Amino acid sequence: MLLTLTTTHRPATDLGYLLRKNPARAQSFNLSFGRAHVFYPEAGEERCTAALLVEVDPVGLVRNRRGPAGEGGLLDQYVNDRPYAASSFLSVAIADVFGTAMSGACKERPELAQHPIPLRVVLPAVPSRGGTDLLHRLWEPLGYEVHATRLPLDEQFPDWGESGFHRLELETTQPLHQVLSHLYVLIPVLDNDKHYWVGDEEVAKLMRHGEGWLSTHPERAAITRRYLKHQRGLVNDALAQLADDAGTDPDETAGLKAAEEAALEYSVETLPQSIPATPPEGSPKEQEPTPEERAPSLNEQRLGSVLAVLKGSGATSVVDLGCGEGKLLRALLKERQFTRILGMDVSHHSLETAADRLHLDRMPPKQKARIGLLHGSLMYRDARLTGFDGASVVEVIEHLDPPRLASFERVLFEFARPGTVVVTTPNREYNVKWETLPAGKFRHRDHRFEWTRAEFQTWANAVAERFGYRVRFLPVGPEDAAVGAPTQMGIFERQAT
Ligand code: SAH
Repeated sequence: MLLTLTTTHRPATDLGYLLRKNPARAQSFNLSFGRAHVFYPEAGEERCTAALLVEVDPVGLVRNRRGPAGEGGLLDQYVNDRPYAASSFLSVAIADVFGTAMSGACKERPELAQHPIPLRVVLPAVPSRGGTDLLHRLWEPLGYEVHATRLPLDEQFPDWGESGFHRLELETTQPLHQVLSHLYVLIPVLDNDKHYWVGDEEVAKLMRHGEGWLSTHPERAAITRRYLKHQRGLVNDALAQLADDAGTDPDETAGLKAAEEAALEYSVETLPQSIPATPPEGSPKEQEPTPEERAPSLNEQRLGSVLAVLKGSGATSVVDLGCGEGKLLRALLKERQFTRILGMDVSHHSLETAADRLHLDRMPPKQKARIGLLHGSLMYRDARLTGFDGASVVEVIEHLDPPRLASFERVLFEFARPGTVVVTTPNREYNVKWETLPAGKFRHRDHRFEWTRAEFQTWANAVAERFGYRVRFLPVGPEDAAVGAPTQMGIFERQAT
């Protein structure tokens, strides 16, 4: 099976640096199921094409078989499309041979690795059980132009009709690592045969390589089901993680999760100091308190505190990282002090909601000039995040995998490097105060961790020390003598160097 990647970025031979494979020579790699070869059919200043050719050894596969048996008979185990048609084997080869490129790293061209470049991907044969339509539905939402042609069963004998395969050509302008991740996940989705073992590890791989795009893909449910070969337990697990990644709920879990969160926010409102005054005699019983009468919810208190700190810092430009649906952005806009406001989030869907709620399309030009929304990830260094006086990261870090916190720390404190950074995160100690929250559970299903005050402070102090900031801490919400406040806040100030 074959995959080619062509770029017209100048100089096009930079593709060799990005893939970490020298265009001047062919290289071969052993894989557990065969061999992979990388070579460049063309390598010029203007155009460069890298080819990955994977040879699958069907006999060796049968001999070394692990996992479940194939679905066909004995002959099918030896004579099949595996050597020719793109399948999960190709994904494994991509990860093995182009692993560094896929991670977004590149020693010689670090900026280029994150930079969108024009790319054309050709897969001469992909299984097409889902039809041409599926190919469009999978790639188009990710920004690809899709050309899919159904292949004849035999070119010599057109009367024999069509085969079950397509030639697929994709054109796009995106960072190479992103394109490799899309291929890695979507190729096995086309290949509906179960010839590899699917376990928890596959869920982790899907989450890792789908980060930043899968949770908002309109076909995420179908992609997940097919990638995990319809194993219900794994599929449900993955879909729940994706639903939370998107920050909103695309699927069935929607109502449930929203209700859980509302319940938690509500229980804070009903703590002693927040109980609204008893209505005077004779007033209608069902009357809702007006916003002024009602005690602020934890969410409002949190935004109020973040806003106060940013105002107090004297910042005039602020970036809200993981801005979600834009509540803080709205509050920032109301303050004249802030002349440049940027909201960034990994979830497209949240950004769309934010644009709606801010009425961006109807905003007067002067107002509009103050605000921007940016699709990005806290995992990747991004020049567009530099040059801000202040940054807020409100209830976001607990959504990041602990091993990836280190990337986030560098992206924010080393590269973006704002003067003031406000970080908030739940205080786990406070969870015992919530009767609706079972012991040992987090407040939100997507939280990868929730820290005690000591844990948060240890982390924040180490970050401050490492990157030349000073940090102080403030509680947010009603403070309990023993367990503290529900939200903890760290305020980092950059020190003069
Ligand atoms: N700050 C908002 C939203 C908090 S929910 C508020 O306080 O209401 C967490 C947000 O972090 C979600 O919108 C989610 O999409 C975003 N997020 C998660 N991982 C991210 C990443 N790697 N980069 C940027 N945003 C991320």
